[in-house]
Amino acid sequence: MSEDLKALPEKATQRVADRANKKVFFRKRSGCPLHEDKDLNITYKNSEFLSKFISEGGRILGARITGVCPKHQKEITQSIKIARMLALMPFVTKFD
Ligand SMILES: [Zn+2]
Repeated sequence: MSEDLKALPEKATQRVADRANKKVFFRKRSGCPLHEDKDLNITYKNSEFLSKFISEGGRILGARITGVCPKHQKEITQSIKIARMLALMPFVTKFD
């Protein structure tokens, strides 16, 4: 095992078991970027912040792309949906 992985805190690594090869290896986890900001308030009113989580076409980006945890992802999607209903954010921006 490499030294730099040992230096990381426990949360930063994810234990992955490969049952087929009977190997256990560690994957570096990026972590939710929103957890650092403690007084962050995700609301539909903050459309400037929510616009970071939509694609060019106006679609909500998946957690796989943004690296956000499930809890924050749910808050973001719900606020985007409310903001859309109130016409603060677009449903679609590209028409083909
Ligand atoms: Zn989070």
